[in-house]
Amino acid sequence: MTRNYIKGIILCITDGLHKSFTFAFRVKKVFMEDALLNELDNLFDGYLKEKKLRRTTERDAIFKLICSFSEHFDVNMLNERLEGDSFHVSKATLYATLELLTELGLIVRHLFPLPFAQYELRVFAETHLHRICLKCGAVSEDKGSKVLPTVNLAKLKMVRFTPAYSATYVYGICSKCTFCIKQAKAAEKAAETPPEQTLTTRKPRK
Ligand SMILES: [Zn+2]
Ligand SMILES: [Zn+2]
Repeated sequence: MTRNYIKGIILCITDGLHKSFTFAFRVKKVFMEDALLNELDNLFDGYLKEKKLRRTTERDAIFKLICSFSEHFDVNMLNERLEGDSFHVSKATLYATLELLTELGLIVRHLFPLPFAQYELRVFAETHLHRICLKCGAVSEDKGSKVLPTVNLAKLKMVRFTPAYSATYVYGICSKCTFCIKQAKAAEKAAETPPEQTLTTRKPRK
């Protein structure tokens, strides 16, 4: 099945990219270390100041919540967690903050065929492959792959285009769909096979 995979590297670009992209994400672990958290915090702070925006309690809570996710998340998941902590934030503020963090490059907005846009901290998104099923659209992460295509963005020269980061999507067929396809083929084959002929033998006349 892997032969049929279409491997694509999506270079996500933003025009007028914020200068702070020059910082390096060093930690490749699936939990947030204090040093990394501080680094992201400083970036967020600097970006807000540059944009002349206040670090409101809502923005602060959303930022801290996002930093607690080592997996993908969407706006509803953030909303549920905040509501669970009795902290109400409007959907408009959530979307605006996600937009801000995406612009900064702190989070990645994935291009998954799902009803709600999925986000992930960029520091984690670059460390694994994303598998997308061509039949059912299911998305899964492959964190165990030792073959992770990496693009040296520093050396990538593009005309009128400033690369920001790369994310890797591998398209194929998930195990559930593979099973369904096999079942359907087996059923098709069974339907084509004529029923077994029953030979009736006449009793010889006495
Ligand atoms: Zn991911
Ligand atoms: Zn599938």
